[in-house]
Amino acid sequence: MIQITMPLSFLGTVYREIRQALVDMGEMFDLLHQPAEITDKPGAKPLAVSGGAIAFKGVNFAYSPERPILKGIDLTVAAGQKVALVGPSGSGKSTIGRLMFRFYEVTGGAITIDGQDVRDVTQESLHAAIGVVPQDTVLFNDTIRYNVAYGRANATQDEIEAAARAAKIHDFVMSLPEGYDTQVGERGLKLSGGEKQRVGIARTLLKNPPILLLDEATSALDTQTERDIQESLDAMGRGRTVIVIAHRLSTIADADRIVVLEAGEIVEEGTHEALLGRSGRYAAMWAAQSAEEAAAAAE
Ligand code: ATP
Repeated sequence: MIQITMPLSFLGTVYREIRQALVDMGEMFDLLHQPAEITDKPGAKPLAVSGGAIAFKGVNFAYSPERPILKGIDLTVAAGQKVALVGPSGSGKSTIGRLMFRFYEVTGGAITIDGQDVRDVTQESLHAAIGVVPQDTVLFNDTIRYNVAYGRANATQDEIEAAARAAKIHDFVMSLPEGYDTQVGERGLKLSGGEKQRVGIARTLLKNPPILLLDEATSALDTQTERDIQESLDAMGRGRTVIVIAHRLSTIADADRIVVLEAGEIVEEGTHEALLGRSGRYAAMWAAQSAEEAAAAAE
């Protein structure tokens, strides 16, 4: 019997791990698309994070040689700063995130984190340093506990609860008959968009990365939920280096710097006030969104 159950339980574990890895990849793909064949350099060292300062120096990138996507991107984010990327659809915002994660290799220039070229460090350490909060958090068909702890398998119940409290999902979880053992996902309890995002925030808090990459949702949650979530995201960003890929300008007016991309180039950058004062592209985008929001509110 032992001979039979041992391999079966082993296979079960393997199956579970593969399934989880696939779902995890699925979640990443939204922001990161398919990864290219990228391997660690021989003797690559783990990234040594001091504050999480990010620098793009003359970065060029093309998914295919005949179509340049990013052209000479120079972008620095000091440790603990929040920088927002804005620009029309297809301008290259998500691509900047994918390159920072080294899901693709730059075709020119370099990206460094705390002075270390992302090509010189292990991918494992690079990925551990960057927390991605995607537009839509994908839940695994497993318990809420598992979903929050994902990425930190050794997390204790206290740590899980602390993260859930900070993400303001703990009280909701405790209101469920099975609490943290509640099954969620396709075959379990269906969570709302806001609840799913809170699980995603708790998951990232537990991972505790020095750098955050937020891919802001375009799909609107109801406004109170949106405001609450925004508050949680802002709180999570304190003391970390944050890059926000933003669609709604109202959520990033407080950023240390707003970078406007157009067709793979930085065309403007500065604070919200400075950019409004310049009456350029950002000011035009701001005016257009304000008019849209006013029209929607009047409906
Ligand atoms: P959005 O606001 O719509 O998300 P974005 O500014 O994030 O857009 P990117 O996703 O970075 O834009 O895309 C930049 C350009 O690169 C687009 O023209 C897009 O078609 C192209 N692109 C994106 N991903 C790939 C890919 N995997 N293969 C080839 N081209 C791609």
